[in-house]
Amino acid sequence: MARVTKPVCLVCRRNAEKLYLKGRRCESDRCPLDPRKQRKAATLPKTSEYGTQMREKNKVKIYYGVFEKQFRRYFALAKKARGVTGEVLLRLLECRFDNVVYKLNWAFSRRMARQAIVHGHIFVNGRRVNRPSYQVKVGDEISVGENSRYSELAKQALESGRAVPLPAWLESSDKQLKAKVVRFPTRDEISIPVDENLIVNFYSK
Ligand code: SF4
Repeated sequence: MARVTKPVCLVCRRNAEKLYLKGRRCESDRCPLDPRKQRKAATLPKTSEYGTQMREKNKVKIYYGVFEKQFRRYFALAKKARGVTGEVLLRLLECRFDNVVYKLNWAFSRRMARQAIVHGHIFVNGRRVNRPSYQVKVGDEISVGENSRYSELAKQALESGRAVPLPAWLESSDKQLKAKVVRFPTRDEISIPVDENLIVNFYSK
């Protein structure tokens, strides 16, 4: 995951919107962008067209935690694939394994989901997959390893209430910590507030 070296809240402030980079903690009223705290709506500083496109691209990179090189690779894949490039790009990022584990609410944040994967606690189709960038496929069965120490943490994350509603493209049996990818997400089901056309324009220059 791309390392954000500055305080993550600063990234949200720069973009003048909540990007939920701290996962569930972002729901608390300690978020500096909490509307109850703000006297006036946060506004973006004025910038050039190029600057706006770059900001949108960086927002997505930080949201999913990928480096520039990886992000370019995703873009190249999206460009080659059938369909609308911007939408395919977001779908590829949404189907990253770490994002899926977070969406299943088996972790308090994407960062925690990534750690659980790297440490080998999460399985796909009965096999340990320790690559957070693994692309889930339709029909993949995801589970927390039996007897894994992580299952307690995953249950805690689930019991503390869903930070994000379970998307319709995933099926989950919370009690057993098992889930299935039933289809790929549609654009409407990808909740990041972004204009992907700006990213396509950024890379098309
Ligand atoms: Fe910080 Fe989360 Fe609020 Fe963003 S949404 S400013 S990361 S607390």
